[in-house]
Amino acid sequence: MIDNYVRKFFSSFLGDQDITLIIGIAYLIASVFFIFGLKFMNSPRTARRGMFMAEIGMGLAIVTTLLDQEIVTLDWILVGLFIGTIAGYIMAIYTPMTAMPQRTALSHAFGALAAGLVGVTKYYTNHVAGDAHGLMIAVGLEVVLGGLTFTGSMVAFGKLQGVLPGAPIRYKGQNLVNVLVIAVLVGSLGYLIYDPSQSMLFYVLAVVSLVFGVSLVLPIGAADMPVVMSLLNAYAGLAGCATGFALNNNVLIIAGALDGASGVILSIIMTKAMNRSMTNVLFGGFGAVQASAEAHEVKGSIKSQSAEEAAAILDIANSIVIVPGYGMAVSQAQHSSKKLVDYLLKKGKNVRFAIHPVAGRMPGHMNVLLAEAGVDYDLLCDMESINDDFARTDVSIVIGANDVVNPAAKEDKSSPIYGMPILNVDNSRTVMVLKRGMSPGFSGIENELFYKDNCVMVFGDAKKTLDGFVTSLQELDA
Ligand code: NDP
Repeated sequence: MIDNYVRKFFSSFLGDQDITLIIGIAYLIASVFFIFGLKFMNSPRTARRGMFMAEIGMGLAIVTTLLDQEIVTLDWILVGLFIGTIAGYIMAIYTPMTAMPQRTALSHAFGALAAGLVGVTKYYTNHVAGDAHGLMIAVGLEVVLGGLTFTGSMVAFGKLQGVLPGAPIRYKGQNLVNVLVIAVLVGSLGYLIYDPSQSMLFYVLAVVSLVFGVSLVLPIGAADMPVVMSLLNAYAGLAGCATGFALNNNVLIIAGALDGASGVILSIIMTKAMNRSMTNVLFGGFGAVQASAEAHEVKGSIKSQSAEEAAAILDIANSIVIVPGYGMAVSQAQHSSKKLVDYLLKKGKNVRFAIHPVAGRMPGHMNVLLAEAGVDYDLLCDMESINDDFARTDVSIVIGANDVVNPAAKEDKSSPIYGMPILNVDNSRTVMVLKRGMSPGFSGIENELFYKDNCVMVFGDAKKTLDGFVTSLQELDA
């Protein structure tokens, strides 16, 4: 048995009351770090500082928690710390940037599982007395949110990893099953709050929460995954917040509430970016319109050019907008994009990046990649600020983006992405699309942009094509 040396060390010269005061102050400082961390994460320029501040806050919160007098020995804590550190390190080092969304889904899943298990343990060890109605609310919500977020995030992981089909998974009688699951969930939680001693009902609640997570995410289509991911993030935070109430731990309450609130705000921003309502994402008939979209026929033919031919067009263009998408992440073309942009800027051209809020596979995906390559933040424009400028743009270079530039979103009412705001690259004089073949994007639908008169395809891996652009431009200048 390893004693709780942290507590023992402080107890040797401080009384219990002093330690309680220290815990309170340290939690307050940790919470301030979390709040400033979130504030700095508002902009790519200060995001690293934000992450660092949040890390300091979390470190302080963990160490302070070890002062809690309920922690008598450190054995299992050290085992958990060891396993968690090794697993976290391996995941951080070996997960490619392209798989970051799946990794995030796993983080949500395990965070929520931890919260749910704390709730089950609290109940199982008879910590919830028959008349502890308030505590039962906290423990009940912890188990419900923890359970549904765990299985929901695992399904989201499966969809993002390609283990499960990205299309909405529907079956006959699904709505009835969902209504029944919700009814059992609400009914059992309500009765448990009224009478916390009903242990059978508690375990029914835990199991049905797990089932609810699966049934919530299965029918949601791949294109709506960004909203689902940020919503699951919010649920994981709220589960943590409920755990804080159950354990009477202030820093957990604050951190969970911050996580929950920021997750909800992000979900709202994402739904707005996709012109969808939350109800529509969660319960909408996404699958129904998908069927009609698949039947939609695209007319026209595609034109393709070599990198050398495309570079000749770039050479005489004045205004150029680059639209990165998921393919840039796959190809790791961010450094080559920077090389091209630097060269074009040196030639006196007006070059900017247009960033769609759901480009890539996670919020801020493109910003992270371009920041990694050292692209100047001032060159990055968001959708609202640049969309009207495409009509005055000579060349738009689409690097591995597909859904976020698909004109079906504004032209084809039967399309599953109809109504989603897109980057209006089709308004520019010439559009160059850099991709390997004619595969569709994440939503699995055809892109009519590729068949438009002003569009040329430059087939190949984006990184190689961009390097080819720079070489050809250098040859033209030689
Ligand atoms: P898309 O997924 O629509 O398209 C990516 C394109 O990149 C593909 O058509 C693919 O075509 C091409 N590509 C892949 N590898 C390469 C390569 N090595 N070189 C060149 N091209 C390549 O990406 P978008 O960014 O346009 O759209 C994002 C989609 O992901 C949206 O539907 C969004 O809703 C969804 N999503 C977004 C999340 C987020 O939080 N941002 C989370 C989850 C989903 P080809 O294979 O022919 O090369």
